[in-house]
Amino acid sequence: MEEDLFDRYSRQILFQPIGADGQKRLSGGYALVVGCGATGSASAGMLARAGVGRLKIIDRDFLEKSNLQRQSLFNEEDLQANLPKAILAERNLGRINSSIKIEGVVADLNPSNIEKLAAGADVILDGTDNFDTRFLINDYSLKTRTPWVYTACVGSQGMLMNIVPGETPCLRCLMDGSPPAGSLPTCETAGILGPTAQLVGAIQATEALKTLTGHRDRLIKGLVRVDTWTWEFRELDLSDVRPEDCPACAQGRYDFLQARSGMMTSILCGSNAVQVVPPNGSKIELKGLAERLHSAHGPGGIDDLSYNSHLLRFRLIDRNIEMTVFPDGRAIIQGTKETSTARDLYSKYIGM
Ligand SMILES: [Zn+2]
Repeated sequence: MEEDLFDRYSRQILFQPIGADGQKRLSGGYALVVGCGATGSASAGMLARAGVGRLKIIDRDFLEKSNLQRQSLFNEEDLQANLPKAILAERNLGRINSSIKIEGVVADLNPSNIEKLAAGADVILDGTDNFDTRFLINDYSLKTRTPWVYTACVGSQGMLMNIVPGETPCLRCLMDGSPPAGSLPTCETAGILGPTAQLVGAIQATEALKTLTGHRDRLIKGLVRVDTWTWEFRELDLSDVRPEDCPACAQGRYDFLQARSGMMTSILCGSNAVQVVPPNGSKIELKGLAERLHSAHGPGGIDDLSYNSHLLRFRLIDRNIEMTVFPDGRAIIQGTKETSTARDLYSKYIGM
């Protein structure tokens, strides 16, 4: 091992289960972090410090002031930059460790792009805030035999579970499909404590390090539930869960991966906003869109139009609505939770 590598990671190499061999494995490893909120920020930062050779961060959103309370990869300076979180994460992770390959991808992970975006990952870390994406990751994981680490955080509570295809139950073994909208507390209704997400992110990063260094036998086998406020820490035994009853594990039905759709909308957790995703393969040239929108000034029109190469943003005059458009055709419409309103606004101002 090169001497400077040894210097940099010496304390981790001294940790016997990793050692020089484990460090080399980490250098050759590829971890994919889906969602760069509080948990994703924490795990991605730790994996970058640990020297995981390739890190990809996928996130669909842009940075907002209320993120700074818990999303440890970002700071006040980033807020001024008006950039998507994936771009900021790539830059800030590069400042933590410039010797590894880091890729920030601004995208909504969905059935049409997951096989391309996740290809080759050795482990997938769930930093998402919704079950549709988690079930999609679960399908992809089973199909490609890629281990992933499920997490969820709300209030002072966190959950975590390793899914190793062929060895452990999967997410669908535990529940068949997303819980009904509004049935669970969310970051928006129950808030979230920064330290809770840091803790869950730390456990998640540790599990990824075990997988990447070939220590799968050390992975947590149960479903971890923690409450950092009341201090309860439990590991639920999953040995009674029967994968032979699971449509994904047992029958190989990857319903979430096979879903095909036209325009999709989803309400974003933690903000009064809806994301609109146009049909597969749509691309938007932001400069051209800016020119078209520019002529829409005036009553009923738009204001505060700004754009850079990563996003375009404007406000609707007379309405408390702000729209942010990305080159992949997606838009985040803030100021509404109505998916039908969001679709209408998308059609009216962006077209499709
Ligand atoms: Zn299953």
